[in-house]
This record gives sequence, structure tokens and C-alpha cells, in this order.
Amino acid sequence: MNDQPWGDGTRAVRAGLPEPVKNEPTLPGPVFAAHFHLPGEVEGPYTYGRDTNPTWTLLEAAIGELEAPGDEAAGTVVFASGMAAVTAVLLSQARAGDTVVLPDDGYQALPLVRAQLEAYGVRVRTAPTGSDAQLAELDGARLLWLETPSNPGLDVCDVRRLAEAARAGGTLVAVDNTLAGPLGQRPLELGADFSVASGTKGLTGHGDLLLGYVVCRTPELTERVRLWRKVVGAVPGPMEAWLAHRSLATLQLRSQRQCANALALAEALSARPEVTGLRHPGLPSDPSHATAARQMRSFGQVVSFTLPDRAYAERFLEALRLVEDATSFGGVRSTAERRGRWGGDAVPEGFIRFSAGAEDTEDLVADVLRALDLVAVGR
Ligand code: PLP
Repeated sequence: MNDQPWGDGTRAVRAGLPEPVKNEPTLPGPVFAAHFHLPGEVEGPYTYGRDTNPTWTLLEAAIGELEAPGDEAAGTVVFASGMAAVTAVLLSQARAGDTVVLPDDGYQALPLVRAQLEAYGVRVRTAPTGSDAQLAELDGARLLWLETPSNPGLDVCDVRRLAEAARAGGTLVAVDNTLAGPLGQRPLELGADFSVASGTKGLTGHGDLLLGYVVCRTPELTERVRLWRKVVGAVPGPMEAWLAHRSLATLQLRSQRQCANALALAEALSARPEVTGLRHPGLPSDPSHATAARQMRSFGQVVSFTLPDRAYAERFLEALRLVEDATSFGGVRSTAERRGRWGGDAVPEGFIRFSAGAEDTEDLVADVLRALDLVAVGR
């Protein structure tokens, strides 16, 4: 046991490691097993590969140590993708006749989940993330779903305030923590019952796997979410789980560079006349900054902004050399996309969601400014 709480970097490199065993590796390799030897009674931790797997066990311990350090009651359940984790909470908690409050500016698959909830007889109310507008919709709700910062608009809500109000009315609170990640924000400490995330993004950071997780406040909530995974079978492959665990060792290093790059980029963009609607919670001028600075420990890798129109945005993306035109975010290689191409978000045609990678700051900022100059000259 350590005498003083470890810092983020120390916890990241050691997260979820088993006690050292002579002649064994530090992080045991992935366990590929559909079934485990099970003579006689059904007992022991590992029976069938849809229920449990030793590689998940280690990853779950690791994520729990990052999301809820020192919280013995909290439990983590890993999933095949972020959406598997999102739906595990919503569909395992809400029953016909219940009310769920969603953000109306959250991840673009949330409206699909809403349709599914409504098809099962769950009532859904929505409100924007900004200004804590979901507060007004809480009355009698079974579950409040927050996404802060929201994707792609980067609005922030006050989790502690919303969670206090929700708790007073007996409403459970889930926070989609994908954008901030466990080192950027700890929803359970802010009063949430569930912290849910896509591990596909910054958590694993290399753009090469899909993963999701839910961290639950109590053993009872954990059991329900774990049972949901068994029933639906949305389980991560052992290889993905192991790769994710291996990636956690560099989480703090990646995150520090990427967050610094995002802020530097936002500052550079704020001086450009062709850029409007610039958002990044770390910018002191951002409408979300005061709340973000209270509840976030770092501000994430994403910057969003709007260029004059669709063609302008497309020419900008083509002119970039260090930035891939790709969806998703949080990876070590910078990516950006014209978000309107998907059709699911209420954003202007020239809206860009930019995810800062781990390139050298000067190189990344120079590449973006060079691309903007090229487009401005060609116009
Ligand atoms: N939540 C947020 C905020 C996301 O941005 C995403 C994916 O972009 C998801 C959930 C879903 O994650 P996945 O793609 O891993 O299913």
C-alpha cells in the first residue's frame, strides 16, 4: 500500500497490474478462451467466455483505478464498443413507463437509442447540455444521461449540481465520459452513479480497436450492468482488451501532449478571421471554461470551429498534411472532419471537429495555419 495517493502518471503505468509472480510477465498476455475447464460444480471466476475472462478482469481493475481511485464499492464492466456500454446502462436501467432525460446535443447515435427506448415504452425528454438545461426536465425521471463535454459542440454542464438535484428526486445519473477520459474527469466523484465511455477514443488512443466501459457506483448497479453484458453478449475480444490495457500505460503521456496541442491550436485559431464558433473548454474565453475548470482535470483533445462554408471546409481538410480526414477522436495522430457530412448533428456545413494528436505542437499548429492560408489565398 502506498502512503500517499499516487499521481495520474504513476497510476496509469501501474493500473490493473497483478501482484508480481516470479517468471511471469508484468502484464499477462491475452487469454483466448471460449470456455474454461470446469469439472463438477459451476464455480470459480472463469467458466464461459461470454461471462468472464481474465484479460477483462485486469482491464476492468485498471479502468476502475483510473476512474474511481480508492473507491472500493465501484465496479467496472468492459464492453465490445462505446455504444454497447451506453446501451447497457440505458436499456438495463429503464423499464416501460420510466422517464429518461437525454441531452439533445450528444453523440449522434443517441437519437437511435432514444427511438429504441421509446419502442420499449420508455418516455424520453431532452434538453441541451449547456446552461444545465437538463435540470428542468428531471421531475420523476428514472435516469439522467449527461454528456460533458458534449460531442461535437463541446458544451459543458455542471455534473455536481445536476447530480445533487437528480439524487434528491431519486433519479440515477450517468455521464458519458468519452471526451474527457478518466484522467480528465471523474464523474463518480462528482456524484454520478455511472461513468460510461467509448474506449475507442483517447483511452486507447491508437485508432486500432473498439472498446467501451461502464464504471458503476455500487456492487448492485455493477451486477445489473454485468448481467446485461452476459445477456446481450456485447463482449470485447481478449486481444482488444489486452491492447487497451497495454495502451493505458501511456495514457497520461498521450493525454498531456494531446491536450496541450488542442489548447495551442485553439489559441492559434482564435486569431483567424475566417474561424467562427470556436470551442474548446480550456480556452479562458470559452463559455464552458468556468464550469470545466471546476470539474475537469484536463480539457480534452478536441477543438471545434466553423469555416465559412462546406467547400471552404473541404479545401481546408484537403490542404492539411499532418491531419487525417477521419472520424473518431482522441488518437495519437491528429484527425479532423467536416462533421456535417454525417447528417446527424445540428451543425453548420463548415463545422470542423478537430482532434489533436501527439505531434510536436509547433508542427501541428504550423500545418493548420498553412492549410488555412492556402485556402484563404485560393478563394
Ligand atoms: N459516446 C461518445 C461521446 C462518442 O463520441 C462515441 C463515438 O464516437 C460513442 C459514445 C460510441 O463509441 P463507439 O464508437 O466505441 O461505439
